[in-house]
Amino acid sequence: MTRPGEFEVIRKYFAPLAQSLPGALDLTDDAAILNVPKGRELVVTSDALVSGVHFLADDPPADIAAKALRVNVSDLASMGAEPLAYTLAVAFSDNVDEDWLRAFAGGLERDQIEFGIALIGGDTVATPGPLTLSICAFGSVPKGLALRRGGAQPGDSLFVSGTIGDATLGLAVLTGELDGVDTAFQDELVGRYRRPTPRRALGIELIGLATSAIDVSDGLVADLGHICDVSGVGATIDAGRVPLSAAARAVLDARRTGIERLLCGGDDYELLFSAPANNREKVARVAAQAEVEVSEIGRIGESKGEVCVVGEDGRSIEIGDAGFTHF
Ligand code: ADP
Ligand code: MG
Repeated sequence: MTRPGEFEVIRKYFAPLAQSLPGALDLTDDAAILNVPKGRELVVTSDALVSGVHFLADDPPADIAAKALRVNVSDLASMGAEPLAYTLAVAFSDNVDEDWLRAFAGGLERDQIEFGIALIGGDTVATPGPLTLSICAFGSVPKGLALRRGGAQPGDSLFVSGTIGDATLGLAVLTGELDGVDTAFQDELVGRYRRPTPRRALGIELIGLATSAIDVSDGLVADLGHICDVSGVGATIDAGRVPLSAAARAVLDARRTGIERLLCGGDDYELLFSAPANNREKVARVAAQAEVEVSEIGRIGESKGEVCVVGEDGRSIEIGDAGFTHF
C-alpha cells in the first residue's frame, strides 16, 4: 500500500476541494472562516459513516464519498437550508491507497458541484479499525424559517418525495438476497442505496409551506414517528398511496418482499413532510419547480405519537418495532 503522508494528502486531494471558498484559507490555517449571508442563519448537521455499517468496505470510493456528503445535504434539505460548506474528518483504514484517495476526492468534487457546497476544513488520521468518515455540513435559512419536525397539525396532509423502500432493497441485492431479480432493477436498487438523492431544491421550496419535515433515514414509519413525537400528534399512512419504483414493485409482486419491509426500510433520504390539506396544489407546484415527484400518502391525526398504516383493503397493517437504531 502506498499512501502519501498526512499533509500531502490534505494538499493534494482536499485543498483543491476548498478552492471556491476563500474562508477555507486553502486549508493552510488552523480553522476556517464562514460567512453567513445577511438575513439568514446557520443550520448545522453532522453524520458519521462507518465501513461495514453505512457502506460496504469494497464499495467504490466515489460512491462512499457521495453517500457521506449526500446524507448530510439531505439533513440540510429537511430543514429547508441552502448548503454552504462542510468539514470532513476521516480515519483511513490500512487499505486506503492513492488510487482510493483519488477516486474518493473525485466523488466529492462531482457532488460539491451538484449540491453547491464546498470543503472548508477537517481532520485526517489513520486507524487500525474500519474506515470512518464524519462530515459536518453547514447551510443557511432565512432567519426563523427553518423547517422543523415539530409543527404538524391534526388535519394536515402527509407527503413524501420520490419513491420509498428502494435503498433497503438495494442493500438486500448487495447481500445476495435478491438474486434472480431482473438485473437492471437490481442495479437501480443498488444505486439508490449507494447514491441517495438529497431533495435540496424541494426542501428550500417548502419553507413557509410545510408545517413539519424530516428526511427518511431510519425508515418511513420510524421517521413519521419522530415527527409525531415532536409535534404531539398521530398519523395514518395509506400503504397503497406510498410511491414505489418499478423495481420495488417488481420485487413486491414477485413476493420477494412484503410492503412492511419497504415502509420500514431506511436510507431512502426522501423528504417526508406535512402541510395543510388545502395547500396540496401549492405542494404540487413547488414539487414541479423542484423537479421531483411528491405523493400524498396520508394525514396527521390527534392520537398522540401513534402511527397507523392502513392497507389497500382498509385493514390496518401491523408494523413491529419500526426503524433502524444503532444500539
Ligand atoms: P491541526 O493540527 O491544527 O488541527 P491539521 O494539521 O489537522 O490542523 O489540519 C491542517 C488544515 O487542514 C486545517 O485547516 C484542517 O481544517 C485541514 N484539514 C485536515 N484534514 C482535512 C480533511 N480531511 N478535509 C479537509 N480539510 C482538512
Ligand atoms: Mg489535526
